[in-house]
Amino acid sequence: MQKKIVDLRSDTVTLPGREMREAMSRAEVGDDVYGEDPSVNRLESKAAALMGKEAAVFVPSGIMGNLMAVLTHTSKGEAVILDPDSHIYYYEAGGSSLIGGVQLWPVANLHTPEGLENLKKELRPDDIHFAPAKLLCLENTHNRKGGTVLKPDEQDAFYKLAQEKGLALHLDGARIFNAAQALGCPVTDLTRSCDSVMFCLSKGLGAPVGSLLAGTSTFIETARRYRRLLGGGMRQIGILAAAGLLALKQIPLLAEDHRRALKLAKGLSEIPALEILPFPPPTNIVIINTEGLGMTSVDFISRLEPYGVKAVSFGEYIVRMVTHLDIDDDDIERALKAVKNICP
Ligand SMILES: *Cc1c(COP(=O)(O)O)cnc(C)c1O
Repeated sequence: MQKKIVDLRSDTVTLPGREMREAMSRAEVGDDVYGEDPSVNRLESKAAALMGKEAAVFVPSGIMGNLMAVLTHTSKGEAVILDPDSHIYYYEAGGSSLIGGVQLWPVANLHTPEGLENLKKELRPDDIHFAPAKLLCLENTHNRKGGTVLKPDEQDAFYKLAQEKGLALHLDGARIFNAAQALGCPVTDLTRSCDSVMFCLSKGLGAPVGSLLAGTSTFIETARRYRRLLGGGMRQIGILAAAGLLALKQIPLLAEDHRRALKLAKGLSEIPALEILPFPPPTNIVIINTEGLGMTSVDFISRLEPYGVKAVSFGEYIVRMVTHLDIDDDDIERALKAVKNICP
């Protein structure tokens, strides 16, 4: 029998199990473009309540949710301030610029302790030379920064500044439940300091597809029009909402992903040539620097392949490994053994 692949590329690779497929097959459905899908309506109410917001809208992907937020908060020619390593800036194919006509304005190291001061220095006066900044985006947890977490008081400070400067704040909370889990705080401590928040059901929570965007009722009303414009209005989508409702029950299991990421990072850190950044990993993402090994990330990853272990490249010498619902303790042991075998 072929050994199971230990797929640590992303927490998006989880496969829906029998319970989820059964919930999908039983789902009550209707035409969601007419607002008539009871499962979607249930999921949207539940998501709004979880986020502490008035309303929420179900979207096919996190990227569409983020794009709808940018479109709703801004007009063409305005500027959106974000971290150059943020998902919206780095991984969303420039959609905000192409479709929203906004200028993406990166502020380096936005999510570090100096981030707020960096931002204060970078903010420009209201002047004809500059695209007027209207939106600040934060990411919690921060993917490219190794699943790092912004604390409630840090987010509050950003929100206070944003409000003083007339900026709306959108939170890319693709992994917001990982952040709340790591901090041991209610998720609403992290969502109180934003005007809108997007979170994913298809990452650590194991749904096959789907994200939610939450905010005020008027914000969500406009966002729905943009979902339609982008072709994201779907019909008997309760089949997917049923998977999403079940995914929300998996939130407590994120603690297991974090425990396993720590176990993985500890094992890797015993190999002197490897550097784990940050160590310990705060959530479910482990970032490995392979430069000390004299091996590029691509080389490192291709040498792991024959052992049935998968990871992704995050830079010339940077490898990312992510724990998730389909990774157990034995898989962590196998991954560690494989890495030890390829390290001279
Ligand atoms: C995955 C992710 C998204 C959205 O991705 P989709 O694949 O479109 O669901 C947005 N932000 C962050 C930080 C992510 O990791």
